[in-house]
Amino acid sequence: MIKVAKFGGSSCASAEQFRKVKDIVLSDKSRHYIVVSAPGKRASGDTKVTDLLYRLQDAVEDEKKFQETLQTIKDRYQEIIDGLGLDFSLAADFDRIEQDLKAGADRDYAASRGEFLNAKLMAAYLGFSFIDSASCFVFKEDRCCDYQKTEEGIRAALKDIDYAVFPGFYGANEKGEVVTFSRGGSDVTGSLIAAAEHVDLYENWTDVSGFLVADPRIVPNPEVIDYITYRELRELSYMGAGVLHEDAIFPVRREGIPIQIKNTNRPEDHGTLIVQNTLKKPRFIITGVSGKKDFCAINIEKAMMNSEIGFARKLLSVLEDNNISFEHIPSGIDTMTLVIHQEELEHCEQKILNGIQRAVNPDLIELESDIALIAVVGRGMKSSRGVAGRVFSALAHEYINIKMIDQGSSEYNIIIGVRNEDFEKAIRAIYKMFVMSAK
Ligand code: ADP
Ligand code: ASP
Ligand code: MG
Repeated sequence: MIKVAKFGGSSCASAEQFRKVKDIVLSDKSRHYIVVSAPGKRASGDTKVTDLLYRLQDAVEDEKKFQETLQTIKDRYQEIIDGLGLDFSLAADFDRIEQDLKAGADRDYAASRGEFLNAKLMAAYLGFSFIDSASCFVFKEDRCCDYQKTEEGIRAALKDIDYAVFPGFYGANEKGEVVTFSRGGSDVTGSLIAAAEHVDLYENWTDVSGFLVADPRIVPNPEVIDYITYRELRELSYMGAGVLHEDAIFPVRREGIPIQIKNTNRPEDHGTLIVQNTLKKPRFIITGVSGKKDFCAINIEKAMMNSEIGFARKLLSVLEDNNISFEHIPSGIDTMTLVIHQEELEHCEQKILNGIQRAVNPDLIELESDIALIAVVGRGMKSSRGVAGRVFSALAHEYINIKMIDQGSSEYNIIIGVRNEDFEKAIRAIYKMFVMSAK
């Protein structure tokens, strides 16, 4: 059996956490390939090293601020080195980072150094080989990772190596410049190593005992999901359940490799197993609920739009021409709504509105902002009647007005739009309806 084990920021934020990681890794010889994030928060209110590094790059013109920030970052690592009593120095690496930044290295390079240094340190501490992800994770011109070349690169790097530590979060383009994934991207690093090596299990170690039915920052002590399918997870993580980066699912899913979410602080807990398919019945009708704020809706009304051939195509081409993606398109007989990230629309609002006017000549266009989308997801929903009805009544009970509703044809999820300010209340109401009242 071979496993990849990825440890997130909080799992390697201090010497104490490094010790836990070592105990976990060395307690099971099948944990061959380790991925680490940069040191994260040691407690709430603390700053992640990644954020300090972005700040460092921003301060490159301001020597005083630059040196202060650099010192804070050096201290974070030194605290770990001293706490572990290691005879190890990152001084030469820090000199190099300072030189590179002063010579104009960009934000991606700066941010990537958090995982680079941490992986070097972890490799020394575990006695494993260090492999720089820039040597095997290949990014294209468009900043997307080339999965095929990357997997070949990983296999080549591991050809003669049994036990290795990789820094998460970054790779390099063909020119050799460092490129990062989006935030939280170390999950993707682990997933690609798991897929490349066809391992048996991808363990993702974090600070919660698995994927929870709802965000613990919104619902106090939510239940843990024991088993979840990739498909359900994809819906939940796309809609904001932050445990796993949404792109981490595809590489392992393709190879049928399960992911296990585990808690570094409570390794004895089962955690969540993410699988392709399972006969295991979910504990509740819904598997999970998650959501995101800050969407806006463009409501378009036109009499007889349904019989107008090519209406939707013409409408969507306006978005395409402006390089904007949409989240949902709920529609009625004479109405169609485009739900879009508010931030994306803001810089080209008038262009889009004019474009729509010209493309489909609607009777009315209305804009609505500050909408939150909530996804209620579960494989168990398909076989139970009245799920949508219960969602409605849970929200009505809390006097929450539903702005839109969209049920995918898979019957795996229902998307509900509410006002931003009702977001947390709505999640709690849905949790109460499906989980608390079912226990
Ligand atoms: P790491 O640094 O280990 O990658 P993350 O911060 O990326 O960890 O993800 C774990 C965090 O995700 C948890 O501490 C929790 O606050 C948050 N979270 C949001 N939604 C959920 C959920 N549904 N289940 C579990 N954790 C969640
Ligand atoms: N350190 C990076 C971040 O804070 C990547 C990661 O943690 O996965 O986003
Ligand atoms: Mg994460």
